[in-house]
Amino acid sequence: MAAPGRQPFKNRHASDKNRHSAGAGEGVCSIAPAGPMRIDAHQHFWHYSPAEYDWIDASMAAIRRDFLPPDLAPLLAAAGLDGSIAVQARQSVRETEWLLAFAAAYPQIKGVVGWVPLAERGTGVGNLLDRYAGEPAFKGVRHVLQGAPDSYLEHPGFNAALHEVAARNLTYDLLVYARQLPAARHWVDRHPTLRIVVDHIAKPVVAGAPPREWRAHLRELACREHVCCKFSGVVTEVPGWRWTPELLRPYFEVVLEAFGPQRLMFGSDWPVCLVATDYARWAAFVATCVAPLAASERAAILGETAVRFYHIDT
Ligand SMILES: [Zn+2]
Repeated sequence: MAAPGRQPFKNRHASDKNRHSAGAGEGVCSIAPAGPMRIDAHQHFWHYSPAEYDWIDASMAAIRRDFLPPDLAPLLAAAGLDGSIAVQARQSVRETEWLLAFAAAYPQIKGVVGWVPLAERGTGVGNLLDRYAGEPAFKGVRHVLQGAPDSYLEHPGFNAALHEVAARNLTYDLLVYARQLPAARHWVDRHPTLRIVVDHIAKPVVAGAPPREWRAHLRELACREHVCCKFSGVVTEVPGWRWTPELLRPYFEVVLEAFGPQRLMFGSDWPVCLVATDYARWAAFVATCVAPLAASERAAILGETAVRFYHIDT
């Protein structure tokens, strides 16, 4: 296992340096194409307040503080990552605008997954999406569905709004628990042109071998070519947050086999992950998961899939 802090994902600048030391001439080096971009496809920022982040309970005391772009930048650099996708953590348009302002100020933020009132506005959400779509960093939206009743996925306003999202070629981050996967599968089939990514491998309870039902439902979902998956948020699905590489690796194998590297993305879910790990330890673990794969497959999982899915400028 790679030691934390040793750039488990060598970034493209590091690989340029390698080309140097391999004896390539200066001229060749300067025109050599940059290596693949390394992206953390899932992280959050917040100014902590108990009222706005009431889900951060006493057991998560470690993350009851502010987490802002300057906090993340050194962690990305230490892991050999070029940037990240900032995902909404509050259900408000203010959150979307706050994240977009960060993206304008901090180049390491390569994209924003914001929030818009999908269910409330239905087709009326188009103007709002048009406004945000003018910002290059705005990539798509998420509405937190984990724990919502299955009927939410049938909500006419929600579904009408998602047609608006698809029509603008924006993305949708699907955050559900494993038990919601059967309903999610039907919903996914209603939106064949919407580019969807399943957050946090659909949050199975990670207490032993991968649950058979989760595996089966996730594979079903993965048959839909317009659906991708993030290998993120897994450490916080382990009861008591006592995770080991041996416990988690079979979950990686399941999503790798189901989605393939071209539809799989590395994500940290920082700072939520900090209740169970530090950034470097998670990155080092994922580095060991992808180590046996071909270089192109590693590149896909560690950034290229996110670049393609979120239309990140390289
Ligand atoms: Zn998250």
